[in-house]
Amino acid sequence: MRPMARPPAPPMGDMVETMQDMQRGMSQSWEDIEPYFDELEPAAFEPKPGLWNELNKFVREKWGDVRIGFTELPQQMIFRGKFTLFRYALVANQEMKKDKIDRAPDPQASQEVMRVYASLGLVVNEIARWLRKQGVRCQSNHPMGGLTNTPSLAGKAGMGWQGRHGLLVTPEYGTRVRLAPVFIEHKYFEFTDNHDHDWIEEYCELCQVCEKECPSKAINSEKAVNVNNVPGVGAIRTCINRERCVEYFSRTMGCAICIKVCPFSKGGDTYGQLKAAVENRTI
Ligand code: SF4
Ligand code: SF4
Repeated sequence: MRPMARPPAPPMGDMVETMQDMQRGMSQSWEDIEPYFDELEPAAFEPKPGLWNELNKFVREKWGDVRIGFTELPQQMIFRGKFTLFRYALVANQEMKKDKIDRAPDPQASQEVMRVYASLGLVVNEIARWLRKQGVRCQSNHPMGGLTNTPSLAGKAGMGWQGRHGLLVTPEYGTRVRLAPVFIEHKYFEFTDNHDHDWIEEYCELCQVCEKECPSKAINSEKAVNVNNVPGVGAIRTCINRERCVEYFSRTMGCAICIKVCPFSKGGDTYGQLKAAVENRTI
């Protein structure tokens, strides 16, 4: 294998602020949850009609680049050794800006990756607080400290489909998103589950660009199956060699090359055009 070029380190000024936001988001979710659980007593489930629309309005008005879905959390999607308090999940995704990601692995792209990690951590805390005010018991989970396989969970919630690199491919922003869930006690909302995006798997078989362009050859050609028959998504596979990815990801503080090169990351109408090409067999 060719030795990897060492990219320049990101500038420290903005990164310090981003890391402070990251730390604040992580601390907040635990600070919020401790007193909250002290107050919890068993409560009967009360349906909340109209709340999903209100929540969507709240999210849209506050963060134009955030999308949400809602689904049941299968036990198999919880990482070994971790736990979640509740078994329904709201999943939020937030866009990483294209002009920044296009610079990967330049520090500007890394800063954008970290900015959205930090920002989305604060977003899910705020969504959780909003829900609690409406009487919905829930637990937010910072995107940097994942308890579950969030790309699979978001795929189950109909927000996109996992690409060859294991990241979620969304219709709006392609792979230029970060993901974080809020675990919820009851099925307060209709599930957003659908299979509209599973054709992406077929496109990925033809494309394979992320695998070819990954500087550390961390995207597996043959994907070992971890768990079979997970409701809503089928098999969960290991797409990334973690050690290889982490080494380059840490060195560049965010890498993002596999996101940059994915055709879906162009956004706009790319999703529709590629879908039509797959359906019409013109690729
Ligand atoms: S983040 Fe970088 S190193 Fe990791 S899989 Fe993607 S391209 Fe490869
Ligand atoms: S780069 Fe190609 S193979 Fe990789 S996730 Fe995107 S569409 Fe799929």
